[in-house]
Parts: sequence; C-alpha cells; structure tokens
Amino acid sequence: MQAEVAVVGCGVVGSAVGLALARRGAAVAILEAEPEPGLAASGTNSGILHTGFDSLPGELESQLIVRSAALRDPVLEVLRVPVLRCGALMRPADGSQREAVAGLAANAERNGVEVSLHDDGALEVPGESVTDPVAYTLALAAAAQRHGAELRTGFRVAGLQRSGGGIIVSEPGGDSVTARLVVNCAGLGKIIAGPTAVDQQDKGDWSVRPQARDEILPKATAMYPPLQDAEPIAAYAGLRPAGHGVNYLIGPSEAFPGLVNVAAIRSTGLSASLGIAERVCEIVRELGVALTPEQPLEPGRADGFSGPWWQRSARYRLP
Ligand SMILES: Cc1cc2nc3c(=O)[nH]c(=O)nc-3n(C[C@H](O)[C@H](O)[C@H](O)COP(=O)(O)OP(=O)(O)OC[C@H]3O[C@@H](n4cnc5c(N)ncnc54)[C@H](O)[C@@H]3O)c2cc1C
Repeated sequence: MQAEVAVVGCGVVGSAVGLALARRGAAVAILEAEPEPGLAASGTNSGILHTGFDSLPGELESQLIVRSAALRDPVLEVLRVPVLRCGALMRPADGSQREAVAGLAANAERNGVEVSLHDDGALEVPGESVTDPVAYTLALAAAAQRHGAELRTGFRVAGLQRSGGGIIVSEPGGDSVTARLVVNCAGLGKIIAGPTAVDQQDKGDWSVRPQARDEILPKATAMYPPLQDAEPIAAYAGLRPAGHGVNYLIGPSEAFPGLVNVAAIRSTGLSASLGIAERVCEIVRELGVALTPEQPLEPGRADGFSGPWWQRSARYRLP
C-alpha cells in the first residue's frame, strides 16, 4: 500500500491528525497495533475537555489546548460526540488553597479563558466539559476514514526503512506501507513508560494498586460528602504517554528524515488533539507534502452504544 503520510497509532491524537490531513487532501494511512482504536490512554482517561484555565501560559501544550477549545464545538456537533457541558467549580478548603485558586484565576486570564472568582474563593470555569473519550476517538477515526484515510488495525509498526524518496513502514508479519512521511502518534509506543499519580516503568502494567482506593476515596468524600461509606463497583488504570523531562514533543525527527514525532502528549491530549492535528498539518506542509484547504467535515452517525463510556473498554475493567 502507498500513502503520502502514514500515521502510527490511532489514539485520540493519531485519529485527529489522520482526520486533519485527510481533510486537507493528503492520502493517509493510519496504522494501529491493536484490533481497534482508542484502547490505550485515549480510552482510559477522565474524559475532561479542558479549557486551558490552569495550563502554564506560553507553553506549547497550553497554546494547543486553547486552540482545540476554539476548534472543538463544530467537530463535536457534526460528529455527534456526546458532551456534558457541566463547567467546573474549584472550591478551596482553606486559606492556602484560596490563594492557589486565586492564582489560577490570574493564570486563566493570561490564557484568555473565561472564569469567575466568587466571594467565597471558589473559581468557576464555565467552559470545562466532559466527553465520552472512547466515542470521541472512534468518531475522529471514522471521520478520517470518510475523508479517505485508510485505517489498518492489527498493524504494529516495527520498522522504518528509507527507500528512494519514501519510507517503508513495516510490521512483524511482513506487511508494509510505503509513505513519504511518517507521523509518530504511538503514545507510549516503544519509547517511554509514564506515570499517572505513581511513577512506574512497566508499560504493560495496567493493574490498579490496592492502596489507590484509600488514596482516592477520602478526598472524593471530602469534596462530595454523600460518597461517605460508598463502595466503588469498578476501577481501572491508565498509563499517560509521558516523556522524561519533555512534554508535547512535536516536530521532525533529527535522527530519521521524514519522520515527524508527536510524542509525550502526557495529560491533556484529549483536550488538545485538534490543535495538535492542525500543528502537524503545518509541519507536514513545510516538509513538502502539498495540502489543500480544509474540506468541510463529513457528518458522523450515533454509534448506538448507550452505556457509560468506561464499559466500552471491557478489557481494562476489573473482573
Ligand atoms: C488516567 C488518565 C486520565 C487522563 N485524563 C485526561 C483528561 O481528562 N483530559 C485530557 O485531555 N487528557 C487526559 N489524559 C491524557 C490523555 O488520555 C492523553 O494525553 C491522550 O490519550 C494521548 O493520546 P495519544 O493518541 O497520544 O496516545 P494513546 O491513546 O496511547 O494512543 C497511542 C496509540 O498508538 C498505538 N500504538 C503504539 N505502538 C504502536 C505501534 N508500534 N504501531 C502501531 N500502533 C501503535 C497504541 O495501540 C494506541 O492506540 C489522561 C490520561 C490518563 C492515563
């Protein structure tokens, strides 16, 4: 198979990048190791679509979160992705937290995010919302396909080899795709194991630590007293695609010409994916792939799944 751009990984970032490139006329192949998209970090996160109110001003991550927030509403609507526009309220528990929360209000202002600081010290962020992250990822991937991208699941990229003007992208079974450029959106991929609340190096350890329950429940109960004496009915773990001392590593690889890395998208990739995708299109264009103006987005269909989103990834649920 031939493609102009091969996108490795079909999490929320690879899906958004594949869609953005396909909408701009590129011949795209999205290569996903697992049998379906969104089974890694993108399918096991908290589903929050951040506004960027608490992100560090000036950071690439913050810029792309804010840009995504501006791009997002029409995408959610046309692709029929569920969203709960609940806003967020940060209520300080004591004097020191009150100061920290007031600091966040100033931070939000620098990022151009609307917030209001109440007399009791609580910070209201009306634009924060929650989505079904699996539906979001699947909707982006399906839209990419409607715009002409080819999605190959069960394709675990194991090698890149330069050949003539292109790159041969191969998997262990011998199948391959030839592309002009490769965009690495493989999340943790083969590069780095990253933490959630606890640092660990094992990329395959999805187990839920027994002590997590006692770490989480008292804090949750303090915030929402009706949870007192409640017992969780399920738990899951997620692994963030974190880099060592680097965040949002987006750009051409210095080691392998023609490879664009979109890596270390640690904590906010769901929120920033549309901005990341737009940024990758600029890089791809700079690297010589002719892209057209963006096509109107093809509408999506409801997928018929009506349960809570975490029940989709049955693989990661505790028995
Ligand atoms: C517990 C938790 C809570 C979070 N909460 C939020 C939140 O509320 N809001 C938010 O914005 N973000 C949140 N995040 C962060 C967010 O989930 C990540 O930033 C985002 O999912 C990263 O997306 P990705 O596509 O880069 O990576 P992934 O979702 O990890 O996708 C990478 C894909 O590449 C595939 N792949 C890997 N290696 C190969 C290979 N060799 N060949 C082919 N395919 C390969 C994988 O199978 C996978 O499907 C949270 C993360 C965690 C873990």
